Amino acid sequence: MTAWSEETDRETEAWRLQLRVERVLHQAKTDHQDLLLFENPLFGRVLALDGIVQTTERDEFFYHEMLVHVPVLAHGAVERALIVGGGDGGALEELLKHPGLHTATLVEIDESVIDFSKTHLKAICGQAFEDPRLELVIADGLAWVAEEKGKRAPFDLILVDSTDPVGPGEVLFTESFYADCAGLLAEGGLLVTQNAVPFTEPESLAKPIAALSRNFAATACYRVAVPSFFGGDMVFSMAAQHAAALTTETATLEQRFAAAGIKTRYYTPAVHQGAFALPPYIAALIDA
Ligand code: SAM
Repeated sequence: MTAWSEETDRETEAWRLQLRVERVLHQAKTDHQDLLLFENPLFGRVLALDGIVQTTERDEFFYHEMLVHVPVLAHGAVERALIVGGGDGGALEELLKHPGLHTATLVEIDESVIDFSKTHLKAICGQAFEDPRLELVIADGLAWVAEEKGKRAPFDLILVDSTDPVGPGEVLFTESFYADCAGLLAEGGLLVTQNAVPFTEPESLAKPIAALSRNFAATACYRVAVPSFFGGDMVFSMAAQHAAALTTETATLEQRFAAAGIKTRYYTPAVHQGAFALPPYIAALIDA
């Protein structure tokens, strides 16, 4: 019997995305969400949380390379980085490829996501969870940044690799979370958040970007179309206390990319620059 997963558009029930489930690797109701890991003929192994596709073996690099390499190469000297969420380990794995990185702190609310990813999603996380530069914290990101602000050395980069603004991830799109993240950033530091797919979830961009703009002097959005995220481009928001930190010469990016010696399948300095060119329907949500 062929099984199909289901995903429905929470707001309008306007569309339904179904992926063929060839084999269920694991299904559990964790303390925080419903977790489903299954195999699909096109996407390979797929992680879904609360029925929403989070990442897949075949297209994870679209998302993780743009989440990580755009801010790291824009900054140029990231030594201390924080990932909030990111339990699949994909962002961590890309981050640890940067030779200049000293420490990576990952704050994930649901330990089960990490455990199952380490067992079933090696193609995404590799050996990242065994890296000596990793500080792993199981906690709610909102509470952790509020608790740690002013108590530890600030970060050069904060990546918010969260679920969408429903369930446990909702608090990671709030004003107080962004304000505390601003307090945890070093001079010249960058914050990057995932803002879902504006065509299907415009509120996941419009409201959070307004809150970001009230806590950071400068924000800029960039986009990538992830095949398993239905609805076209998804958007990342990058925020800093100085506008200059958000734009980098192409020649500088090329020099830093070459020096890092990282092999990529999506990211290039040209793709980096092009991703900040936003179509008017997305720019209108940001300027709203
Ligand atoms: N790429 C995915 C996306 O764009 O939707 C995100 C993937 S990652 C698996 C999302 C992680 O955020 C999950 O492991 C989830 O448990 C974690 N998460 C959700 N809410 C959180 C919170 N309040 N604090 C820390 N981690 C959280």
